[in-house]
Amino acid sequence: MLIKRILPALLVLALVVYLLASYKGPEPGVTTTIDKSNLEKFYRIKEVQLQEDQFHLTKNSASITSRFRIRNFELSMRLKTTPGTLGQLNFATSKGYDEKNFRGYSILINNSDYSTGKVQKTGSLTKIRNNYIRTADDNEWFDLTVSVLGNHIKVTVNGKIVSEYTEPQNAKRIEGLSGMVLSRSFISLRKISDQGELVVGEMKMKPITEEIAAILPPVKPDSLVDVIDSLNQREFPLIDFHVHLKGGLTMDQCVQHAKDNGFCYGVAANCGLKFPVTNDSTLNSYLKSIEKEPIFKAMQCEGREWVTLFTPQAVAGFDYIFTDAMTWTDNKGRRMRLWMPDETFVDNDQQFMDMLVGKIEAIMENEPVDIYVNPTFLPAKLAPRYDELWTKARMDRVVDVLVRNQVALEINARYKIPSIAFIRKAKEAGVKFTFGTNNTKNDDLYRMEYCIKVIKAVGLTPEDMFQPKSKGERKILKKGLPDKVTG
Ligand SMILES: [Zn+2]
Repeated sequence: MLIKRILPALLVLALVVYLLASYKGPEPGVTTTIDKSNLEKFYRIKEVQLQEDQFHLTKNSASITSRFRIRNFELSMRLKTTPGTLGQLNFATSKGYDEKNFRGYSILINNSDYSTGKVQKTGSLTKIRNNYIRTADDNEWFDLTVSVLGNHIKVTVNGKIVSEYTEPQNAKRIEGLSGMVLSRSFISLRKISDQGELVVGEMKMKPITEEIAAILPPVKPDSLVDVIDSLNQREFPLIDFHVHLKGGLTMDQCVQHAKDNGFCYGVAANCGLKFPVTNDSTLNSYLKSIEKEPIFKAMQCEGREWVTLFTPQAVAGFDYIFTDAMTWTDNKGRRMRLWMPDETFVDNDQQFMDMLVGKIEAIMENEPVDIYVNPTFLPAKLAPRYDELWTKARMDRVVDVLVRNQVALEINARYKIPSIAFIRKAKEAGVKFTFGTNNTKNDDLYRMEYCIKVIKAVGLTPEDMFQPKSKGERKILKKGLPDKVTG
């Protein structure tokens, strides 16, 4: 009996003693600065130039790989890239790099502008928590930190959480990714592009050798978690481009919700007459205030008057801009807000629909927006007859104006619009899509349920999805603003 109890304990002890004896890394529990003096003691370097206290990785596949194996650690690096640089920080990985049978996790380093280079940006936990938001620029120092504690992985860029993931027990992986799990193994920084240069200005390592209890996943695993994980593994961009800091929702809560669920968020300011952002000066100070946040910076163009309130140069400070067709003035001069029953006038159903389609056409033709949001929304009185009132001819007119003006179509999670039939038609015509929740408070962000359902129902692919344009290519700069209000 005693043997039965003692033997397993002895075996574990022997293993721990063996592991500690074979560990040849920096001192556990202490933060060690890795510089020229100790780099090669702890790391194998390949094609790395040591200049003063900087490590330069210029050649494709230049690398710095740990000589020690580690399970739990905190690693921080001050890095700089030049244009064209792609790098990766791999952990729980094999000693030699093997692209085909990759083991462990990989964090991407890519500071290219939107619509240029690889679509995932720095801090992306590749295929697990893909990040599409830029939080660092080429030619500027930035801080990248990674920590693995128990089953919890956290990646920050310039002090902001960019990726966070809690590996569940028996993590599900699609074919080819079965090695993407935590283990006691090597850490490696690699350059993976021909162009550019990756410079390490500072590198600090804190190994943690004690066992750390697993941290429970923040969200109760359910079938939607599996679907979201699988979409991330297939690199389908899970971005909610339409979130508001409303009803007490703070930026930190909003970012945390995105990270807990495996999404990226675009946070939109409401900009227009009688809104907090109402001219170039309030617009610029708003943008300054959110500059460092790990979100897309979006402008919701309100009412129809917004075109008279801002300059294109100021508007171009946003990553993208969008509007809906829920506020307009009818042919009797009544300014309507279609979501407010007492501000909406439907004298004749068919005439109303024709007028609505005409307004959508005028807005999307003339206002230089990137996305049509809350699309095809009908007032409460007409909404139950959505499928009947959105006739083929009316759908065609809306799809045409979007294609002609390269306006993306939002798939709205809260209103569950447009209909599947509408989205199919738009996809066939080549319209790009975005997902958007348009939350109204701090407890209605949910998890893009309708959008995720649509991916499968319509067969959306990553190529069908909208991506923000690079700074110089923004539509507002190319198209300018209309001379007068459009509706
Ligand atoms: Zn909105």
